Amino acid sequence: MTGRFAPTPSGYMHIGNASTALLSWLHVKSLGGKIVLRIEDIDYQRCKKKYTKSIFEDLSKMGLNWDGEPLFQSDRDENYLSVLNFLIQKDLVFACSCNRKMIRKSILNKDSKYYQGACIKKNLPLDGPYSLRLKTWKGYPVIRRSDKAWSYNFVVVIDDASQKVTHIVRGADLQECDSFQEHLRGLLGYESPSIHHAPIWLGPGGQKLSKKHGPISLKDYFQKGWSPEALLGAIAAGLNLKKDKSPCSANYLINSFGSYDWNKSSVYSSDFLPL
Ligand code: GLU
Repeated sequence: MTGRFAPTPSGYMHIGNASTALLSWLHVKSLGGKIVLRIEDIDYQRCKKKYTKSIFEDLSKMGLNWDGEPLFQSDRDENYLSVLNFLIQKDLVFACSCNRKMIRKSILNKDSKYYQGACIKKNLPLDGPYSLRLKTWKGYPVIRRSDKAWSYNFVVVIDDASQKVTHIVRGADLQECDSFQEHLRGLLGYESPSIHHAPIWLGPGGQKLSKKHGPISLKDYFQKGWSPEALLGAIAAGLNLKKDKSPCSANYLINSFGSYDWNKSSVYSSDFLPL
C-alpha cells in the first residue's frame, strides 16, 4: 500500500495543504503502508525552489516523513512524451487551434457543458503551435497546452502509476477530476487506486482559505510561536480526528484513524486556529 503527498510548490505550505498531507499520511500509515513525495512543479511561472525547500522542512517538522526520494515533475518530460506518443498511436489525440473565446462560443451554440471537438476534422499537425486534446467519451480535455505545458490531469495519472500509488487522498476541490483521471488510467492500462477527499479549509466568509485571509502558512504559525504539535492538535480537531485541540504528534493519531469519517467536506479554519 502506497500513499502520496503531491504538493505544488507555488507558495508556502498552509493549513489546508498540511491537513491533506496529514490525512494522506495517516491513511496509509494506519494500513501499514508507505508514503511517497512528488513535487508538482511544472507551472514554471508560479513554482519556486524556495517553496519546495520549505515544503520539505514543514513536512519534516510536522513528523510527516516520506519514503524514498521525492519525484519532481519537472524532471519527467520524457515520461510524459512517451505516454503522449502511445495515445497518438491509438489515434486518441488531436491538435486544437481554438482559443478561449472560440470555445466559449462553441459551448454556447451547442448548449453543452463540453467543448465540441470542432478541430478534430481539421487534422492540424500535432507538433504545431496548438494545444493537444484527448478524445474521450464525454469531451476533449487538453493534455498539453499550446505553450507545451502539460495539464495537471494528464501528468498526475502517469506519476501516480510510476510511483505505484494505491491510496490517493486529495482535496475535495479536486473531486471533479476523478472521472477523467480514471478514464485515462483505463486507456493506459493502469490499475485504479482508492481515492478519498480531504475537507477544504474555509476562511470566515466560507471561501477556500487563502493568503488573503491572513498569514496562514505553517511558516507564519511557527514564527508566531506555535509548535508543530500545537498545530497538529488544532488541525486534527478541525478534521474530527480528535475531540479537542490539545497538542499531539502525527504518530499519536495513527491508532484511532481506522474509523475516520471521510464525509466531512469542509472546515471553518477560525473555529480551530486564529487567522
Ligand atoms: N498538486 C496538487 C495540489 O497541490 C494536488 C494534486 C493531487 O493531489 O492530485 O493541490
